[in-house]
Amino acid sequence: MANIPKTMKAIRLHEYGGDYRFHDDIPVPSNLDDYEVLIAIKSAGFCHTEMLVRDGIFKAKQLPLIPSHEPTGIIVAMGAKVSNEFKLGDRVGALNLSHSCGQCPDCLNDKPLYCEDFNATGITIDGAFAEYQKADSHWLVPLPDEISFEQGAPLMCAGATVFNAIERCALKKGEILAIVGLGALGHLAVQFAKCMEFKVVAIDNRPEPLELVQKLKYSPDLTIDSSQIDTANAIEQINTLQSATTTKNYPGADVTLVLTDPIVAYKYALAITKKHGTMVVVGQPREPIQIAFRDLIFRDITVKGSLLSSIESARRMVKFVAKHGIQTEINTYSLEEVPNKMMEDFHSPHMKGKLVVNVSL
Ligand SMILES: [Zn+2]
Ligand SMILES: [Zn+2]
Repeated sequence: MANIPKTMKAIRLHEYGGDYRFHDDIPVPSNLDDYEVLIAIKSAGFCHTEMLVRDGIFKAKQLPLIPSHEPTGIIVAMGAKVSNEFKLGDRVGALNLSHSCGQCPDCLNDKPLYCEDFNATGITIDGAFAEYQKADSHWLVPLPDEISFEQGAPLMCAGATVFNAIERCALKKGEILAIVGLGALGHLAVQFAKCMEFKVVAIDNRPEPLELVQKLKYSPDLTIDSSQIDTANAIEQINTLQSATTTKNYPGADVTLVLTDPIVAYKYALAITKKHGTMVVVGQPREPIQIAFRDLIFRDITVKGSLLSSIESARRMVKFVAKHGIQTEINTYSLEEVPNKMMEDFHSPHMKGKLVVNVSL
């Protein structure tokens, strides 16, 4: 491990409910196991899940903890058994999973994403708000040259999550996808869905994100301000997108994808989902989502969740982003700015797009 220093700059969470602190003397991770790599972090994203860790809803294995699970950077060291598809100097990102157990039914059935005995970087073990981070090579995502480090970082959770969720919707071209919640995930979802040739309805109750998605290179077919438009009116507008050939269709969206937490968003989404349609849950509201039996039985609505992303889907996603030139709206910070400036911006109601820390570029 030549040229790798002994200590590094990093952000740490010291207690649940406490503030992040900047340090410049944290030991660089060492003792890679056979399947691990050490990434020199270039950029790292700040995800909504970070707040669930800070508040102690998701628990770290131990505190202090280095947050962030959206790393991009360069491989600077690797374990003996890392696949030869990777080499020193490669540009990579990584999903947050690490060391799934290999023995549970999910691990044995090729669904390690659902393993319940694993580590998650930035959540249970140290993450990417640091100059170096260890990553499990099974979850590495090669970063195409067309994607910069700061553009790549938000793809490792936000991008991967919505791409996987949209793939799981199993929509056909021309069908209607309503995206509820146009934050970091939502504005990526709009672009992915447009490039997949679905008809896209973008819904939020805040003016800033609605304006932002209208300016995207791949903008939605329809935007709805749910603070102004009730669900009956929304359905009327959505119906104008149904193709003239599908005369025998029920009103509403074929699939609704809910990417935000407020419980009202789920009520709204369910109401505008057409009969026999699907509502996909990606947000993580702190209260239970209420669903009437009428929606499940008489309207035959399917409700399903979507967890992060398989590694295969994430690797498809970055190629898709490179091919279509999809851009993430980002606001960038230095590591030193995380505890104050970045957190103030994060809590601002006018915040648009994704927060990304440029650790070293
Ligand atoms: Zn995340
Ligand atoms: Zn397992």
